[in-house]
Amino acid sequence: SISVRGLGLSFDGQAVLSEIDLEVPAGTTLALLGPSGCGKSTLLKLLAGLQKPGAGSIRFGTELVADARTCVAPERRGLGMVFQDYALWPHMTVDGNVGFPLEMAGVARPERERRVAAALARVGLEHVGKRRISALSGGQQQRVALARAIVAEPRILLFDEPLSNLDRDLRVSLCREIGDLLAQLGTTAVYVTHDREEAQTLAHQVVTLKQGRVVHASHRSGSQYNETF
Ligand code: ATP
Ligand code: MG
Repeated sequence: SISVRGLGLSFDGQAVLSEIDLEVPAGTTLALLGPSGCGKSTLLKLLAGLQKPGAGSIRFGTELVADARTCVAPERRGLGMVFQDYALWPHMTVDGNVGFPLEMAGVARPERERRVAAALARVGLEHVGKRRISALSGGQQQRVALARAIVAEPRILLFDEPLSNLDRDLRVSLCREIGDLLAQLGTTAVYVTHDREEAQTLAHQVVTLKQGRVVHASHRSGSQYNETF
Protein backbone atom coordinates (compact mmCIF):
# COMPACT_ATOMS: atom_id res chain seq x y z
CA SER A 1 0.00 0.00 0.00
CA ILE A 2 0.94 3.66 -0.32
CA SER A 3 0.04 6.26 2.33
CA VAL A 4 0.66 9.91 1.67
CA ARG A 5 0.05 12.36 4.52
CA GLY A 6 0.13 16.15 4.34
CA LEU A 7 2.59 16.09 1.45
CA GLY A 8 3.83 19.49 0.28
CA LEU A 9 6.55 20.94 -1.91
CA SER A 10 7.53 24.46 -2.91
CA PHE A 11 10.03 25.79 -5.44
CA ASP A 12 11.35 29.30 -4.71
CA GLY A 13 8.50 30.00 -2.29
CA GLN A 14 5.95 28.89 -4.88
CA ALA A 15 3.78 25.94 -3.70
CA VAL A 16 3.67 23.14 -6.30
CA LEU A 17 1.96 20.58 -4.02
CA SER A 18 -0.02 21.34 -0.86
CA GLU A 19 -1.54 19.10 1.82
CA ILE A 20 -1.80 16.00 -0.35
CA ASP A 21 -3.37 12.98 1.40
CA LEU A 22 -3.64 9.72 -0.55
CA GLU A 23 -4.29 6.13 0.44
CA VAL A 24 -3.67 3.42 -2.16
CA PRO A 25 -4.55 -0.01 -0.73
CA ALA A 26 -2.20 -2.86 -1.69
CA GLY A 27 -2.96 -4.31 -5.10
CA THR A 28 -5.06 -1.36 -6.27
CA THR A 29 -4.49 1.46 -8.76
CA LEU A 30 -4.97 5.17 -8.20
CA ALA A 31 -5.25 7.41 -11.25
CA LEU A 32 -4.16 11.04 -11.02
CA LEU A 33 -5.93 13.49 -13.32
CA GLY A 34 -5.57 17.22 -13.73
CA PRO A 35 -4.52 20.01 -16.07
CA SER A 36 -0.98 20.58 -17.27
CA GLY A 37 1.21 22.03 -14.53
CA CYS A 38 -1.02 20.92 -11.62
CA GLY A 39 1.75 18.82 -10.08
CA LYS A 40 1.09 15.24 -11.28
CA SER A 41 4.64 14.44 -12.37
CA THR A 42 6.05 16.16 -9.29
CA LEU A 43 3.92 13.93 -7.07
CA LEU A 44 5.23 10.85 -8.93
CA LYS A 45 8.80 12.13 -8.44
CA LEU A 46 8.19 12.37 -4.71
CA LEU A 47 6.83 8.82 -4.66
CA ALA A 48 9.84 7.63 -6.66
CA GLY A 49 12.34 9.41 -4.41
CA LEU A 50 13.63 11.65 -7.20
CA GLN A 51 12.55 14.67 -5.14
CA LYS A 52 12.44 15.31 -1.38
CA PRO A 53 9.19 16.51 0.19
CA GLY A 54 9.05 19.92 1.85
CA ALA A 55 6.33 18.71 4.21
CA GLY A 56 4.45 15.54 5.09
CA SER A 57 5.31 11.86 4.71
CA ILE A 58 5.13 8.88 2.35
CA ARG A 59 4.83 5.28 3.52
CA PHE A 60 5.03 2.11 1.42
CA GLY A 61 3.29 -0.48 3.55
CA THR A 62 4.65 0.13 7.05
CA GLU A 63 7.95 1.53 5.77
CA LEU A 64 8.50 5.28 6.02
CA VAL A 65 10.19 6.17 2.72
CA ALA A 66 10.08 9.98 2.89
CA ASP A 67 9.47 12.82 5.29
CA ALA A 68 11.31 16.00 6.35
CA ARG A 69 14.25 13.92 7.65
CA THR A 70 14.05 10.66 5.66
CA CYS A 71 14.47 10.04 1.95
CA VAL A 72 14.99 6.43 0.87
CA ALA A 73 16.89 6.29 -2.44
CA PRO A 74 14.82 5.45 -5.57
CA GLU A 75 16.62 2.14 -6.17
CA ARG A 76 15.73 1.01 -2.64
CA ARG A 77 12.02 1.69 -2.96
CA GLY A 78 11.08 -1.43 -4.92
CA LEU A 79 9.61 0.58 -7.80
CA GLY A 80 8.99 0.19 -11.48
CA MET A 81 8.34 3.25 -13.64
CA VAL A 82 6.86 3.80 -17.10
CA PHE A 83 7.18 7.18 -18.83
CA GLN A 84 5.45 8.92 -21.72
CA ASP A 85 8.59 8.78 -23.88
CA TYR A 86 9.37 5.11 -23.00
CA ALA A 87 12.96 6.06 -21.98
CA LEU A 88 14.43 2.98 -23.65
CA TRP A 89 17.96 2.65 -25.05
CA PRO A 90 17.32 2.71 -28.82
CA HIS A 91 20.63 1.09 -29.83
CA MET A 92 20.17 -1.89 -27.50
CA THR A 93 18.06 -4.98 -28.07
CA VAL A 94 14.71 -5.57 -26.40
CA ASP A 95 16.30 -8.22 -24.16
CA GLY A 96 19.10 -5.81 -23.26
CA ASN A 97 16.62 -3.10 -22.24
CA VAL A 98 14.30 -5.35 -20.24
CA GLY A 99 17.21 -7.14 -18.54
CA PHE A 100 19.03 -3.95 -17.60
CA PRO A 101 17.52 -3.52 -14.10
CA LEU A 102 18.38 -7.15 -13.32
CA GLU A 103 21.91 -6.72 -14.66
CA MET A 104 22.34 -3.69 -12.39
CA ALA A 105 21.06 -5.76 -9.47
CA GLY A 106 23.68 -8.42 -10.23
CA VAL A 107 21.26 -11.16 -11.28
CA ALA A 108 23.18 -13.93 -13.12
CA ARG A 109 22.61 -14.39 -16.85
CA PRO A 110 20.54 -17.62 -16.92
CA GLU A 111 18.16 -16.31 -14.27
CA ARG A 112 18.03 -12.94 -16.06
CA GLU A 113 17.14 -14.56 -19.39
CA ARG A 114 14.39 -16.56 -17.75
CA ARG A 115 12.87 -13.49 -16.09
CA VAL A 116 13.20 -11.30 -19.19
CA ALA A 117 11.38 -13.92 -21.26
CA ALA A 118 8.64 -14.17 -18.62
CA ALA A 119 8.20 -10.37 -18.47
CA LEU A 120 8.03 -10.11 -22.28
CA ALA A 121 5.46 -12.92 -22.39
CA ARG A 122 3.33 -11.01 -19.86
CA VAL A 123 3.13 -8.00 -22.18
CA GLY A 124 2.48 -10.07 -25.29
CA LEU A 125 5.94 -9.69 -26.86
CA GLU A 126 7.35 -13.19 -27.12
CA HIS A 127 9.34 -13.02 -30.33
CA VAL A 128 11.09 -9.66 -30.46
CA GLY A 129 13.81 -10.12 -27.81
CA LYS A 130 16.70 -9.95 -30.27
CA ARG A 131 15.40 -6.89 -32.13
CA ARG A 132 16.68 -3.39 -31.62
CA ILE A 133 14.33 -0.88 -30.02
CA SER A 134 14.59 1.42 -33.05
CA ALA A 135 13.02 -1.34 -35.17
CA LEU A 136 9.79 -1.42 -33.10
CA SER A 137 6.55 0.53 -33.33
CA GLY A 138 5.56 2.99 -30.59
CA GLY A 139 3.08 0.53 -29.12
CA GLN A 140 5.67 -2.24 -29.07
CA GLN A 141 8.18 0.10 -27.45
CA GLN A 142 5.74 0.94 -24.69
CA ARG A 143 5.19 -2.78 -24.09
CA VAL A 144 8.96 -3.18 -23.76
CA ALA A 145 9.03 -0.31 -21.25
CA LEU A 146 6.25 -2.06 -19.33
CA ALA A 147 8.17 -5.35 -19.34
CA ARG A 148 11.25 -3.54 -18.04
CA ALA A 149 9.19 -1.95 -15.27
CA ILE A 150 7.84 -5.30 -14.03
CA VAL A 151 10.89 -7.52 -14.58
CA ALA A 152 12.26 -7.05 -11.06
CA GLU A 153 8.80 -7.69 -9.54
CA PRO A 154 8.40 -4.26 -7.94
CA ARG A 155 5.88 -3.73 -5.12
CA ILE A 156 4.84 -0.42 -6.67
CA LEU A 157 4.45 0.73 -10.30
CA LEU A 158 4.38 4.41 -11.29
CA PHE A 159 3.08 5.50 -14.70
CA ASP A 160 3.45 9.02 -16.13
CA GLU A 161 1.10 9.39 -19.11
CA PRO A 162 2.39 6.15 -20.64
CA LEU A 163 -0.04 6.12 -23.58
CA SER A 164 -0.26 9.77 -24.57
CA ASN A 165 2.13 9.35 -27.53
CA LEU A 166 0.02 6.58 -29.06
CA ASP A 167 -3.02 6.80 -31.30
CA ARG A 168 -6.47 6.39 -29.83
CA ASP A 169 -7.26 2.77 -30.72
CA LEU A 170 -3.96 1.59 -29.38
CA ARG A 171 -4.45 3.70 -26.25
CA VAL A 172 -7.76 2.04 -25.49
CA SER A 173 -6.50 -1.52 -25.97
CA LEU A 174 -3.17 -1.03 -24.18
CA CYS A 175 -4.92 0.66 -21.28
CA ARG A 176 -7.13 -2.42 -20.82
CA GLU A 177 -4.09 -4.67 -21.03
CA ILE A 178 -2.25 -2.64 -18.40
CA GLY A 179 -5.30 -2.88 -16.13
CA ASP A 180 -5.41 -6.68 -16.59
CA LEU A 181 -1.68 -6.97 -15.99
CA LEU A 182 -1.87 -4.93 -12.77
CA ALA A 183 -4.72 -7.13 -11.55
CA GLN A 184 -2.77 -10.32 -12.38
CA LEU A 185 0.40 -9.10 -10.71
CA GLY A 186 -1.42 -7.61 -7.72
CA THR A 187 0.88 -4.58 -7.85
CA THR A 188 0.00 -1.28 -6.20
CA ALA A 189 0.08 1.49 -8.83
CA VAL A 190 -0.24 5.23 -9.40
CA TYR A 191 -1.19 6.12 -12.96
CA VAL A 192 -0.98 9.71 -14.23
CA THR A 193 -3.07 10.61 -17.27
CA HIS A 194 -4.89 13.51 -18.93
CA ASP A 195 -7.65 11.18 -20.02
CA ARG A 196 -10.57 10.48 -17.68
CA GLU A 197 -11.72 7.50 -19.75
CA GLU A 198 -8.29 5.95 -19.44
CA ALA A 199 -8.29 6.58 -15.71
CA GLN A 200 -11.66 4.90 -15.30
CA THR A 201 -10.63 1.90 -17.40
CA LEU A 202 -8.01 0.76 -14.95
CA ALA A 203 -8.18 2.65 -11.66
CA HIS A 204 -9.91 1.75 -8.41
CA GLN A 205 -9.87 5.41 -7.44
CA VAL A 206 -9.48 8.61 -9.41
CA VAL A 207 -8.01 11.73 -7.82
CA THR A 208 -8.00 15.13 -9.52
CA LEU A 209 -5.36 17.75 -8.75
CA LYS A 210 -5.60 21.45 -9.43
CA GLN A 211 -2.77 23.86 -8.65
CA GLY A 212 -1.14 21.28 -6.44
CA ARG A 213 -4.21 20.38 -4.37
CA VAL A 214 -6.66 17.49 -4.40
CA VAL A 215 -9.93 18.96 -5.67
CA HIS A 216 -11.86 15.77 -6.35
CA ALA A 217 -11.66 12.06 -5.52
CA SER A 218 -13.84 9.08 -6.36
CA HIS A 219 -13.73 5.33 -5.69
CA ARG A 220 -15.01 2.61 -7.97
CA SER A 221 -17.69 0.34 -6.65
CA GLY A 222 -18.87 -2.10 -9.30
CA SER A 223 -19.02 -0.13 -12.54
CA GLN A 224 -19.74 3.20 -10.78
CA TYR A 225 -17.47 5.81 -9.26
CA ASN A 226 -18.65 7.32 -5.99
CA GLU A 227 -17.38 10.69 -4.90
CA THR A 228 -15.30 10.64 -1.75
CA PHE A 229 -13.98 14.20 -1.80
P1 ATP B 1 1.85 18.00 -17.34
O1 ATP B 1 0.44 17.48 -17.43
O2 ATP B 1 2.10 19.11 -18.31
O3 ATP B 1 2.88 16.93 -17.40
P2 ATP B 1 2.15 18.12 -14.44
O4 ATP B 1 0.85 18.10 -13.75
O5 ATP B 1 2.91 16.85 -14.53
O6 ATP B 1 1.96 18.74 -15.89
P3 ATP B 1 4.47 19.09 -13.02
O7 ATP B 1 5.50 18.69 -14.00
O8 ATP B 1 4.35 18.27 -11.79
O9 ATP B 1 3.05 19.23 -13.71
O10 ATP B 1 4.79 20.58 -12.60
C1 ATP B 1 4.01 21.27 -11.63
C2 ATP B 1 4.56 22.68 -11.43
O11 ATP B 1 5.81 22.60 -10.75
C3 ATP B 1 4.80 23.44 -12.71
O12 ATP B 1 4.40 24.76 -12.50
C4 ATP B 1 6.30 23.34 -12.90
O13 ATP B 1 6.79 24.44 -13.59
C5 ATP B 1 6.79 23.32 -11.47
N1 ATP B 1 8.07 22.59 -11.29
C6 ATP B 1 8.26 21.26 -11.47
N2 ATP B 1 9.53 20.91 -11.22
C7 ATP B 1 10.18 22.06 -10.89
C8 ATP B 1 11.54 22.39 -10.52
N3 ATP B 1 12.47 21.43 -10.42
N4 ATP B 1 11.82 23.67 -10.24
C9 ATP B 1 10.86 24.63 -10.31
N5 ATP B 1 9.57 24.40 -10.66
C10 ATP B 1 9.23 23.13 -10.94
MG1 MG C 1 3.67 15.72 -16.10
